Amino acid sequence: MSTDTHAPFEKKPETPAGSGELIRLEQVTKRFGDHTVLDHLDFSVDAGKHVTLIGPSGSGKTTILRLLMTLLKPDEGTITVAGEQLFPAPEKQVREVRKKIGMVFQQFNLFPNMTVLRNITEAPVTVLGMSKDEAEERARELLEMVGLTDHIGKHPAQLSGGQQQRVAIARALAMRPQVLLLDEVTSALDPELVAGVLDVLRDIARSTDITMLCVTHEMNFARDISDQVLMFDSGRIIEAGAPEKIFSEPEHDRTREFLSAVL
Ligand code: ADP
Repeated sequence: MSTDTHAPFEKKPETPAGSGELIRLEQVTKRFGDHTVLDHLDFSVDAGKHVTLIGPSGSGKTTILRLLMTLLKPDEGTITVAGEQLFPAPEKQVREVRKKIGMVFQQFNLFPNMTVLRNITEAPVTVLGMSKDEAEERARELLEMVGLTDHIGKHPAQLSGGQQQRVAIARALAMRPQVLLLDEVTSALDPELVAGVLDVLRDIARSTDITMLCVTHEMNFARDISDQVLMFDSGRIIEAGAPEKIFSEPEHDRTREFLSAVL
């Protein structure tokens, strides 16, 4: 059997097919009742880049990921992914554009009644129409990558939180998304399990061309993987730049205060 046609990822091509802008939010406003969480927010992410959102709790970071995942709708503005509008857009288009996006949540959200293997193959088979054999072969490669080959037949409850999160990462990647959204993926883990999950993500960031948009309180991880760090405060980006700049020479007082509290 040939191995190279079944690589778990699209490796970085010579000329990245998706070079240029992959995600664009324009004038996005999101309110909950009379609380404006995001206020005419603009930002974009280029294909293949790793962008980390930092800032105090409640500043709107997770709301952005949830908007991109279409778990929420903006009240105003437009969201574009890979040149196609995600909002506003007809339902059929939303479903197509959403296939380009994978998300890993704080609470893993695995299907409790399915084995590890089935958790990973379910969506590729039912949503992408992949054959069961192909989906299983890919799931095995992804499980090897996240170090869980021995657990393929287990159910989520038989795994540690760190192992469950690594299954959730494999499950997201099984859909071959162009962008991976990571929402505080280590926050629910016991401290000794955090490093294993972050190592898997570092490996993915290094060895694939997937675009990552990441909300995290793990500042060392953010420093390692990010091309750009966006500092949020009250639903606005108050400072943006390379990690060396944001972490070593922040310009804004709020950034300095935030970093001194979390570092
Ligand atoms: P962060 O990720 O920066 O901690 P969030 O995006 O989770 O911030 O939340 C931003 C604000 O929106 C918070 O004040 C939060 O309480 C509020 N919020 C988030 N989701 C909802 C919701 N479904 N209903 C009401 N308020 C919400």
